Amino acid sequence: KQFEDCGFSSTLMNAISKQGYEKPTTIQCQALPIVLSGRDIIGIAKTGSGKTAAFVLPMIVHIMDQPELKKEEGPIGVICAPTRELAHQIYLESKKFSKSHGIRVSAVYGGMSKLEQFKELKAGCEIVVATPGRLIDLLKMKALTMMRATYLVLDEADRMFDLGFEPQIRSIVGQIRPERQTLLFSATMPQKVERLAREILADPVRVTV
Ligand code: AMP
Repeated sequence: KQFEDCGFSSTLMNAISKQGYEKPTTIQCQALPIVLSGRDIIGIAKTGSGKTAAFVLPMIVHIMDQPELKKEEGPIGVICAPTRELAHQIYLESKKFSKSHGIRVSAVYGGMSKLEQFKELKAGCEIVVATPGRLIDLLKMKALTMMRATYLVLDEADRMFDLGFEPQIRSIVGQIRPERQTLLFSATMPQKVERLAREILADPVRVTV
């Protein structure tokens, strides 16, 4: 399997080769065709597998495919991660592929100025990478609206549950339109995560690496 088989634009192919990514990792080979077809997915994979690009690359395609959404406000892609470290890594990975497309990425997590993040979100973005608690705070402050969001990623869902973020995750999902594409990644699938997946994903394909 090659990235060439994914039907990516030359802009995206250039960004991929600029990163030195020669061929897709196992999770990317399995997940990319499914996510690019628009289906929901449960990806059982750990950090180091290349799972970030498996959801970031189709997110770029998803955003570029929706020019009619450009006139509205708020992120199109919403990524939730358990920790600021992971959120920051996802932010960096997203930047690598979004930059050449003019797609703006904002990262919001604890330990950084809420006012600065408020201002950044007010200026606008197409992708937001967030820890659940901080995203809820900023939604309450009306720093952003979810009316444009159609691509939702829950990364390391099991860790988000371990950290007690289930209510925040449910609140965030409840603010995003139901006709969205939802991706859930987790290293393990305990009962509570299975239950959430059943509730918020539509006929998901399951991939395990
Ligand atoms: P992740 O599991 O998403 O945290 O990715 C682990 C590391 O692999 C990161 O440093 C990525 O930049 C890198 N990576 C992701 N996909 C590829 C690929 N297809 N080829 C080479 N490196 C990759």
